[in-house]
Amino acid sequence: MLNRETAYSLAFEEQRNALKRKTALYEKALEELKAKNNRIDEIDRTLKALGAKIGITVLSGDLKELDRMQKLITALAEERDAILQKNGVTPAEFSCQLCKDTGYIDGKVCSCIKDAAKKLLIKSLSEELPLEECRFERFDLKYYPDEDTPAGNPRRRMETLLKLCKDYAESFSPSSPSLLFMGDAGLGKTHLSLSIVYELLSRGFDVIYGSAYNLLSAMENDHFQNRTNESFSAAVTCDLLVIDDLGSEFVSPYIQSMFYNVINTRLLANRPTIINTNLNMKEIEQRYSARISSRFIGGYTAKKFIGNDIRQIKMTEKK
Ligand SMILES: [Zn+2]
Repeated sequence: MLNRETAYSLAFEEQRNALKRKTALYEKALEELKAKNNRIDEIDRTLKALGAKIGITVLSGDLKELDRMQKLITALAEERDAILQKNGVTPAEFSCQLCKDTGYIDGKVCSCIKDAAKKLLIKSLSEELPLEECRFERFDLKYYPDEDTPAGNPRRRMETLLKLCKDYAESFSPSSPSLLFMGDAGLGKTHLSLSIVYELLSRGFDVIYGSAYNLLSAMENDHFQNRTNESFSAAVTCDLLVIDDLGSEFVSPYIQSMFYNVINTRLLANRPTIINTNLNMKEIEQRYSARISSRFIGGYTAKKFIGNDIRQIKMTEKK
């Protein structure tokens, strides 16, 4: 999966390559035109000679001659432009007028690069995840029965949770609270957390999303195979970490302690995490130890999803 840093360097690289391509096209077209039309070379030689002479003329103080030369230079440059234009040879145009395709303004990264990096990130993530499908607009409350059950009224509960997630995304800051989404499979936990991911990525936040299985095995592989901890550092330093489907992964003592480190480090640094799980608190404690469940209880806002399995309802709808 593409991370933010890689997305930025890719965006810079693409901008450089695009400019190179455009410049090369222009130069090639110019060479071809020069081969057909030797007036351009003639003008270029005269302009060069005039350029060398103008300094001397300035020093000599001959204002009349200076004026004559400047007019000549302007006329020649205009003639050259006109020949090029007539033949459809136009200099490479910058795609960003703000930074002239350098990617920087006053030493800061230009908005064109930020936009390109965001697009790359969303594109890369969309290849792996149903980001388009899982938007707030596509979260359909009709699948949640509007009736009182022992667990509560699913429609009203989910209405509240949808609003909570929208507000969360809207007012997100890298010190927003951590959320624990609990409840059975097929109740929209992934949908709502991906909707948050989409919103935040579009606003340029550094978000990492993955299933517990993928994220934790990436960290384990880093550790045992590559002897690095890149995945771990990325997971603890990003603006928002979303761990989907906690409980589906294989738990080893190493995974257990690493998972605790991720959770604990982020909590201590006040960085938000969203975790989706089908497990209840008791099961979390049994599976990952009491230190983890106590971290969740103390540091996370837990929200219970209720209703009927939507994937099943949608499947029967299609039949
Ligand atoms: Zn720019």
